[in-house]
Amino acid sequence: MKINKNDVFTITIEDMGTEGEGIGKIDGFTWFIKDAVIGDMVEVKAMKLKKNYGYARLVSVLKESKYRVHPKCEFHRQCGGCQLQALDYKQQLLFKQNKVSNNLKRIGGFENLEVLPVIGMDKPYFYRNKAQFPIRQDKEGNIITGFYAGRSHNVIANTKCYLGAEINEVILIKLIEFMRENHITAYQEETGKGLIRHVLIRVGFTTKEIMVCIVINDNQLPKSERLVEALQEIAGMTSISISINKENTNVILGNTVRTLWGQDYITDYIGEVKYQISPLSFYQVNPVQTQKLYQTALSFAGLNGSETVWDLYCGIGTISLFLAQKAKKVMGVEILPDAIEDAKNNAKINGIFNAEFFVGKAEEVLPRKYKEDGEHAQVIVVDPPRKGCDQVLLDTIIEMNPKRVVYVSCDSATLARDLRYLCDRGYDVKKVQPVDMFGHTVHVETVCCLQRVNM
Ligand code: SAH
Repeated sequence: MKINKNDVFTITIEDMGTEGEGIGKIDGFTWFIKDAVIGDMVEVKAMKLKKNYGYARLVSVLKESKYRVHPKCEFHRQCGGCQLQALDYKQQLLFKQNKVSNNLKRIGGFENLEVLPVIGMDKPYFYRNKAQFPIRQDKEGNIITGFYAGRSHNVIANTKCYLGAEINEVILIKLIEFMRENHITAYQEETGKGLIRHVLIRVGFTTKEIMVCIVINDNQLPKSERLVEALQEIAGMTSISISINKENTNVILGNTVRTLWGQDYITDYIGEVKYQISPLSFYQVNPVQTQKLYQTALSFAGLNGSETVWDLYCGIGTISLFLAQKAKKVMGVEILPDAIEDAKNNAKINGIFNAEFFVGKAEEVLPRKYKEDGEHAQVIVVDPPRKGCDQVLLDTIIEMNPKRVVYVSCDSATLARDLRYLCDRGYDVKKVQPVDMFGHTVHVETVCCLQRVNM
């Protein structure tokens, strides 16, 4: 059967790709179909044809897969945030386990490595403690907020996101009301005019403290006392601030933050460890699953209290402070100076004195500390960004020869590459434990335990 562009045809979905798209085959020709779920029989329209594969748009579901569920969010297809909402949550976890397993095989050449079942969420909705909503005007001039449509900056008006905290909606409605009543304008990306660009909301899930930071395209927010008055009524409101961002940029927050009311930060906990979070601080967005992730990392580190541990790419020191409770000494390295300031402060407010932090690139700081100061480590933890570890860093780890390496990864493709490198040079992968931090999206975090072969 020859299919041409714009043809409508029927296909059965047999697999799902790394971006959550459905995959089906007709006469050896592979089709990728966004929003189709494994097991669905669907009617689709051919959009783009390449030599051996093509992309088609979902027209209708003719026969629903047993794994298809009714998504809570009516915008799940347009919004760029969720890719898997129509897939049953248990099936999402299997999808993620397979994704890690396939990457380890395909990229790392690990044929028979067991990937443990993904540690899932008890409640896979309302799990994000942080949200950044763009504020815009629609064609009629109404102030709207919502989410960017996939791969664009068109805002879909929607104040109810099922991944964020439920209180977000109350805050958004109050903000829009304030803007309407006081004739405060919304930012326009095309012209660079208009005042309010974004609102950042953070909620401490343990403490119930709330932070609202309004990002504005000027130095002042007129009538801000009225907004403060309205927001203050919300139980848990702890910090209200503005951030000034006059640049023509996709970066959301500006560098200047001014507190309008309350504290400069909110407090929250991961496990027993307390964190102070300011608008500009990095903080894990799913604290419940983060605790499970770090607990796994800690158990893989196998500490007995006598070890020196390095925590590379340490951010605000979240893993370091977890490890410090069980190690003799922890040394954290992170490229962002502000994050290191937070890490030091967090150590102090928790009374943790056996953690030390260094600003710099992990691939520069570790080799220097090793060569110049003769620093050693029994355990090294890495938690790099998506691009994975720098090879110089991996070489230094191999030279330092720690008993164990714990690799925390947010991209299983670069994880597979780096594990292969370490395993060709004296390490064995003992355990691979994925954790679901971002339900309904295709992202998956993985913790791996590596052990030195010649102990
Ligand atoms: N472990 C931290 C966050 C890890 S995210 C936590 O759990 O909170 C990855 C971190 O690596 C980011 O904070 C990023 O700023 C930092 N980073 C990126 N490149 C780096 C490099 N070359 N050296 C050190 N840190 C780096």
